[in-house]
Amino acid sequence: MKFGGTSVGKPQRMQQVATLVTKDDERKIVVLSALSGTTNALVEISESLANRDRSAAKEQIEALQQHYRNFVLELLQEAETREKANVILNEHFEFLTIILKISFSQALNKDILAQGELLSTKLFCIYLEEKKIGHVLLPALDFMTIDSYDEPQVGTIKVKLAQLLNKHKDKNIFVTQGYISRNAKGEVDNLKRGGSDYSASLIAAAINASVCEIWTDIDGMHNNDPRVVEKTKAIEQLSFDEAAELAYFGAKILHPASIWPAQFFNVPVRLLNTLEPDAKGTLITEVAGSVGVKAVAAKDNITAIRIKSSRMLLAYGFLRKVFEVFEKHRTSIDMITTSEVAVSVTIDDDVHLPEILKELEAFGSVEMDTNQTIVSIVGNEIAETKDVMKKIFDAIEPIPVRMVSYGGSKHNVSLLIARNYKEQTLKLLNNGLFGL
Ligand code: ADP
Ligand code: ASP
Ligand code: MG
Repeated sequence: MKFGGTSVGKPQRMQQVATLVTKDDERKIVVLSALSGTTNALVEISESLANRDRSAAKEQIEALQQHYRNFVLELLQEAETREKANVILNEHFEFLTIILKISFSQALNKDILAQGELLSTKLFCIYLEEKKIGHVLLPALDFMTIDSYDEPQVGTIKVKLAQLLNKHKDKNIFVTQGYISRNAKGEVDNLKRGGSDYSASLIAAAINASVCEIWTDIDGMHNNDPRVVEKTKAIEQLSFDEAAELAYFGAKILHPASIWPAQFFNVPVRLLNTLEPDAKGTLITEVAGSVGVKAVAAKDNITAIRIKSSRMLLAYGFLRKVFEVFEKHRTSIDMITTSEVAVSVTIDDDVHLPEILKELEAFGSVEMDTNQTIVSIVGNEIAETKDVMKKIFDAIEPIPVRMVSYGGSKHNVSLLIARNYKEQTLKLLNNGLFGL
């Protein structure tokens, strides 16, 4: 059972989580995110330190500390547990205060970002203690490992977790941190923003769980982005493939990589709402449920690159050379379209863009468009469903489309548009495809 930031962000919410995890006697691992707003606050503290603005960092740390002091007063009622919680807060905020005097580094940044999940899990455990609910805190840094390519080491996680669980055969409730991990150098690291979902799926896969429940602030995966479109509805059933495409192409409810571990080890995933625990939510399994369009998602900050071969035709070997440039710079390509003389690709990671562009210039002329958005239309066998393309293009008639990707996957049609057309496109598709 994984609970996101809003599910633990208020004292009453955290207490509600305790009720949810004690509803039955099944053995379970509870994965917690940081309290909502905390990771953003830690990012800001880190940025202030990186900019050598110590007074700003100090103010931000003090504000965060005050937030936690108030949180503890509402969460806990007994003097003894409050005292314990204050000792924990002192430890973590002392760490943050000490770093004000240390010079900034990437390793330190990761240590700072880890404080949120460390705090939320420790406070939750103190609350369980106050309520006399038996539990064990499993430190994620003792089992969640990533390799030098930032890939989780499922085999190692499995072995380490089994060893830890074996030590507590008599216990049913295990609490651990989402998001944080240890890297190949043994340093504290993380699974990137929103990574608690990924932690939960990896853990569920590692222990061969009967289900991986992702508890959040909405009743499951909706057919469109509820932050952008007013009328959206929850989807009851999705296949792993559909859910993975939606997560990868921008549905914020799931971390982009969070589906594959569950899919690989065939653990069903359920998306559930902490605020409405009895709502059905979304069930994700091997079975899609129905054929046709299920949902639309959008992913921003996309860069499109067009390489026009200097030779008039795309001779064999040209694509390989183009792809090798991206491979060399460990930058993955999301969309690709080709014509006789040119190839267009999109990337969502600009870190190595200058080197990539420079190397691509050797093959021909290179053009680039930043601030693009991929809009993905996802559904089972969508590419084989009659009229889908007509419906999509009728719906978005006023929108200029830069690229179209169709047929690469059976479950997805993707369009590339300029970012400023995103809201309009999502609304038009909501109407044209779902009649909402
Ligand atoms: P948590 O803190 O629990 O991980 P997130 O904020 O990461 O929660 O994810 C839940 C949010 O994802 C929802 O509140 C919603 O605004 C957003 N969201 C974006 N796209 C979708 C979608 N297709 N279905 C449901 N929620 C979505
Ligand atoms: N706390 C982390 C974040 O805000 C991880 C998560 O919430 O999933 O990104
Ligand atoms: Mg999230």
